[in-house]
Amino acid sequence: MKNIRAEIRVSGIVQGVGFRPFVYRIAVNRGLKGFVQNLKDASVRIIVEGPESDIKSFLEALVKEKPPLARITKSDVSYLESNNEFVEFKILESSKQSLVAGSVIPADVAICDDCVRELLDPVDRRFGYFFITCTNCGPRFTIILDTPYDRQNTSMRDFPMCEVCISEYEDPLNRRFHAQTIACSKCGPKVYLTTNDGELVTCKEPIKEAAKLIDEGYIVAIKGNGGFHVATATTISEPIIRLRKAKHRRQKPFAIMAKDLKTIRSFAIVSEQEEELLTSLARPIVLLRKSEDYYLSKEIAPGLHNIGVMLPYTGLHLLLLLNSKEPAYVMTSANPSGEPIVIQNQEAYVRIKRDVDYMLLHDREIVNRCDDSVVRVVDGSISFIRRSRGYAPEPIILSYEYNKNIFALGGELNVTACILMGDKAFLTQHIGDIECVETYEFLKSAIHHLAKLTRAQPEVIAHDLHPSFHTTRLAEELAEKFKIPALPVQHHHAHVASVMAEYGLEEVIGIACDGFGYGSDGLAWGGEVLLCDDNGYRRMGHLENHPMPGGDLATKYPIRMAAGILFGSNLCEEWLFLNADKLPRGRYEAELILKQLKNGKNIKTSSVGRILDSVAAILGICYERTYEGEPPMKLESAAIGGSDILRLKPEIKGRVLNTKCLVESIAEIAIKGLDPKKVRDLAFSAQNYLAVGLAELALEIAISEGVKNIAFTGGVAYNEQIMATVRRIVEVRGFRFYTNTRAPPGDGGLSLGQAAIAAKLSN
Ligand code: ZN
Ligand code: ZN
Ligand code: FE
Repeated sequence: MKNIRAEIRVSGIVQGVGFRPFVYRIAVNRGLKGFVQNLKDASVRIIVEGPESDIKSFLEALVKEKPPLARITKSDVSYLESNNEFVEFKILESSKQSLVAGSVIPADVAICDDCVRELLDPVDRRFGYFFITCTNCGPRFTIILDTPYDRQNTSMRDFPMCEVCISEYEDPLNRRFHAQTIACSKCGPKVYLTTNDGELVTCKEPIKEAAKLIDEGYIVAIKGNGGFHVATATTISEPIIRLRKAKHRRQKPFAIMAKDLKTIRSFAIVSEQEEELLTSLARPIVLLRKSEDYYLSKEIAPGLHNIGVMLPYTGLHLLLLLNSKEPAYVMTSANPSGEPIVIQNQEAYVRIKRDVDYMLLHDREIVNRCDDSVVRVVDGSISFIRRSRGYAPEPIILSYEYNKNIFALGGELNVTACILMGDKAFLTQHIGDIECVETYEFLKSAIHHLAKLTRAQPEVIAHDLHPSFHTTRLAEELAEKFKIPALPVQHHHAHVASVMAEYGLEEVIGIACDGFGYGSDGLAWGGEVLLCDDNGYRRMGHLENHPMPGGDLATKYPIRMAAGILFGSNLCEEWLFLNADKLPRGRYEAELILKQLKNGKNIKTSSVGRILDSVAAILGICYERTYEGEPPMKLESAAIGGSDILRLKPEIKGRVLNTKCLVESIAEIAIKGLDPKKVRDLAFSAQNYLAVGLAELALEIAISEGVKNIAFTGGVAYNEQIMATVRRIVEVRGFRFYTNTRAPPGDGGLSLGQAAIAAKLSN
């Protein structure tokens, strides 16, 4: 049979993921000759020679059997005549030139099944070695100093390989061929245990010892891949209460890490889709519903129907849990409140010393801090609460190519930044709330580092419209420094644009609902219906405006907000004084609130979040917000299993949804007395009213404007009842419904929307 030659160009994520050794194996298996080579545009070039049928089966295997981390977005094949030029199949050296701008940087990958098997196999040379990895798994982004992704450009450069590791690294048929993180107990990072003062705890097996300490009720800091966690047991409450005191975190839920899936099912309900997420390569924290026989401490996620759970994603975590009697550990980011997660050993002794009893450390440097990602399946679709470890900085691929590089800086809370180049949107890891110097510095260094990795030069800087956000000031500084334009983008416009960018939509009616965003009229927006297209947006409808007595205090103490909404009705005073004892300064404060309302100089808001806050306060679910989203999250939990007893028809006048009538009717019932069933049904009714009202409002506008697409975004899109109701109504009426599935619908997705708007306007 006559030989032919095929030349194949494969692009996507094909470098640094074990693609070349894979190609080598499938070529050699079939007796094909030729070579495989990494090209500098991040694609791979393959030449194979052999009989046609073998080449056909090679091409099939190329797609079907590709390594788990590889993603092929494009592959071109051309056939030539063979001149039998090759005598063997070879892996050629990568071209030495630097990578082309916009190359993909791999995200961290959870430990793979092969590594788990070796980790637990007493005769394997990496038995019990905490930093076991291979070409298919291990840290990437958290260790990378520069591109291309080579050991010398990672913090693994501090660990010269031993001879056995070198031989594995150089063997094309070995699973660790060119695995940049290759290491063993002889040559790789070491783990050790200390007290919170840094005194070494002498023991043979530090991981086992740490597990024992956690079982006994001690609090242990654990250095992972992207930062430190603080771990405690989950079946006893004492260490969790102690941790809450130390961290000044009264109510905010802690995430947990559970031994395995079976264990998770013993305390939570896991759908097929959630199982897929839990076990995915990114291994994020997944918000799961607590089951009927939930038996872990109530202190983990107080007042909530769900709990954030993840599976072990490194050898270290797996060894800890396998050596423990606990089914799961609290695993919360180690950081002083509001500050970025701790990454350095010395830093840990200073900053989290008082939170913990012991520290389990290793000697490998964390280059990029990276918190765990958090996702929730909301009404069947994946919703990122935090897109970070395992996802960042892999780009979100857009359906347009833009010709300018855009840097976008996000808002003030849950910030991410975005670098948009060509058709790729690179979002940074989760940065956090830019309220302290440390987070601000983290934002700056994260942008700087991402720009370095992507080789991006900014041409436009997009930011929030809010004049006093730190990110706005940073944008102005950068614009000045690079002599480029800065573009302010309205908050809710950016939210809607993030959905448009994900789906490539050109025109949409966007429902953007959250706690707060600066409006073009200077008011506090947060329940908006916008008509958005490539030229910009128009505010077409919104929730009724209500005064916020005391400004930010009305956010912290939802009773104030409720009073603001009730003001003007005869219920207001009666209800407020009835609940005055729930205010920090009691009756005196209630009187002050009335005075503030009477003088009329309060900022006004159309926020959905504030309505949910008020209802939570009136129903006695939450009187004080100790973390972002607390009142609405607890309201959602309280509404589970409820029904619409209020049966209030949404009142829309002049494209403003009346919300006073909703809050009034609930307060009226509450004054007469509440029982748990009533609380549940009223919580359900309130969410239903808002969802139906928003959907009706959006539909009215969509019909009159002749738009077929409706998007729902903003932090309220995490609320399952509201999301499901809006979607159902929109779809039943024959409109297309969209929401974020790749970027967070909350403020973590703002930077994507800002970048997309800036890109459209400057293309
Ligand atoms: Zn592996
Ligand atoms: Zn070694
Ligand atoms: Fe927002």
